[in-house]
Amino acid sequence: MDCVHIGSYLAADSLRRRLFGELDVMRAQGLDVSVQIRTLGGLTLLECTARSRADRFLSDQEFRCTFRRRLAAVVARLIFEELEKSFILETLSNRHPEIDDDEAREVASYAVAILNDGIFGMLEPSIRLGEVAADIESYLRDSSLLVIEGFVRFRMREYLDELRSSTEEALGKFVAERERKEFVKLLKYFVDVQEDREDEVHVVRGSGKGFDIRSPGGRPIEGDYVASLAADLLGEGVEVVDLLISALMTVAPRKVVLHFEPDMDVAETLESVFEGRVSRCSDPECGFAGCELRMPHPAGNDPVEPVRRR
Ligand SMILES: [Zn+2]
Repeated sequence: MDCVHIGSYLAADSLRRRLFGELDVMRAQGLDVSVQIRTLGGLTLLECTARSRADRFLSDQEFRCTFRRRLAAVVARLIFEELEKSFILETLSNRHPEIDDDEAREVASYAVAILNDGIFGMLEPSIRLGEVAADIESYLRDSSLLVIEGFVRFRMREYLDELRSSTEEALGKFVAERERKEFVKLLKYFVDVQEDREDEVHVVRGSGKGFDIRSPGGRPIEGDYVASLAADLLGEGVEVVDLLISALMTVAPRKVVLHFEPDMDVAETLESVFEGRVSRCSDPECGFAGCELRMPHPAGNDPVEPVRRR
């Protein structure tokens, strides 16, 4: 016979459900397990008692190992799937009280995504789960009482450090993203209050990473890049897409036609700053030099012609 007590403050119901769900699996491995539930203040304690089945022979060592390994796996999944987010939210509320609840939830999801992506994308969620399970299993080798929250706090410092650093990283990304959104909103405001100067402009991708802005007749339109208000606002480290936006802002068009399919973030920024004004070229015989959206030429010399299927 072997007996282990597992307790939790925050996730007692889920712990109970998970343990009962595991009983059949343990029976199949030769263990008859019964569970008694006790509550001590806010702590719910599950007393798990295992007896080896008469029809299955397991050595004492095997019996104990199997039982405790199964328990460790249940607790690891619980920590991983339910408590991890609470620990992250707790870190955020302790260290960053300025973040409100909705923002904290968003940052926590970011942080979990970062954790699962791991260092250089090498850590799969299942690998982290395995590491947590191994820590618990090794603890249960010498101890028959495990209070989950206390165990994480005092025995899994490395894991908590990892949670903290991905939380900080997630928060950094979240704040940068929020600033970008506010900036886009500001740009949009300028676009909205400006009087239209050009009715319609066309944008094609120029040589290199730049963009060319043209009139409907194909005449190049020079956006006043340097002196534009947007360029001042953008400051140092401007990207090509920011230059395009600032150029378009000085041109102040009523309508913008793109003759290329922009990257997702370029498209998103353009569409939020010039809301309702941006469209894609849909002319199959578009005459703009450099148009990447017109249909491939039947002669087959067009560089954008897709690989031909018979
Ligand atoms: Zn076109």
